[in-house]
Amino acid sequence: MLTVVLPPGGAVPPLRLQIGEKYMNKDDQTLEAELDEMNERIDAVSQERPSHKEVLGFLRDVLTEKLKAKPGIQVDAVHMDEKLLQLKKKEGFSLVNKKDLNLDISSATTLFKRLCECLRQNERVSEDVDRISQAIEGGALDLTELFEKAAAEDRAYMVEVSVKLKLQGGLLFFLAENSLQPIFEAYAQKLKEYVDQEEWWRSYCPICGSKPVMAELIGHERKKFLICSCCGYEWRFMRTKCPFCENEERRAFKYFFTEEDGKAFRVETCQKCKRYIKTVDTEELDEAFFPSVEDVGSLHLDVLAKKEGYTREVHPLGLDLEDI
Ligand SMILES: [Zn+2]
Ligand SMILES: [Zn+2]
Repeated sequence: MLTVVLPPGGAVPPLRLQIGEKYMNKDDQTLEAELDEMNERIDAVSQERPSHKEVLGFLRDVLTEKLKAKPGIQVDAVHMDEKLLQLKKKEGFSLVNKKDLNLDISSATTLFKRLCECLRQNERVSEDVDRISQAIEGGALDLTELFEKAAAEDRAYMVEVSVKLKLQGGLLFFLAENSLQPIFEAYAQKLKEYVDQEEWWRSYCPICGSKPVMAELIGHERKKFLICSCCGYEWRFMRTKCPFCENEERRAFKYFFTEEDGKAFRVETCQKCKRYIKTVDTEELDEAFFPSVEDVGSLHLDVLAKKEGYTREVHPLGLDLEDI
């Protein structure tokens, strides 16, 4: 069975699950077609990796809810003044601060409750989920406040509420951040026209400022893109530069892949900060690319990286998933 290993109480892990810009861009597709394509890929990966089947099943539930939430999301029109835009570019500020965005609380609330139902299937956290539901009903947990604090990355608030409700470490973060994520993805769609891919080259998202969850290589030239852990935007980055500490020493940047996975999946490591990122060579993959699905489908590479002494900055489901 799937075991969701939550960090110890008080720990504040990055908690996100994203769908990816390519995925978001399929605007011409109906929701049904998107779901079909996603399910097809999850089925294929499950077949290739039977040991990951449970965790992929959990991912399927979560992604399905997030996709279903997408059409109903309301976001404000965003206009960026040219002067401000130039200043932000020059100073390396992301286009927006997540906490300044108007959040569609109603859609986030609906998704939060649906994600609770997904988690309720897991016996390790089902009692925690019951306590969350009771807290919402009894007024001890205000979801609007929770979302605002999550957008502001107020870790102290999250820890305080988690302790008060006796919740396992990462649970509340997972729910809050994943409930908001489709909203940030919708904003990214509106804001991406303001980004110049050839000018940014930084290790954080040009739109929302978040860290990358994965990287991908695109085309014959293998251009590298980092994938935002929050809004799903993908931006250009150097091939041999650490996306976390920005170390540029070529010797300190190594990668490995397994014979079984082939060259489509590689683990890129930084000898300086000892962190790593998984990179998918989409030319080698030769399949529709769903970042979250490929990420969860290659969790065995995370186990290898961990054994080699590297740490992961942002986890795929916002949760440390083991027992794979
Ligand atoms: Zn972003
Ligand atoms: Zn580094």
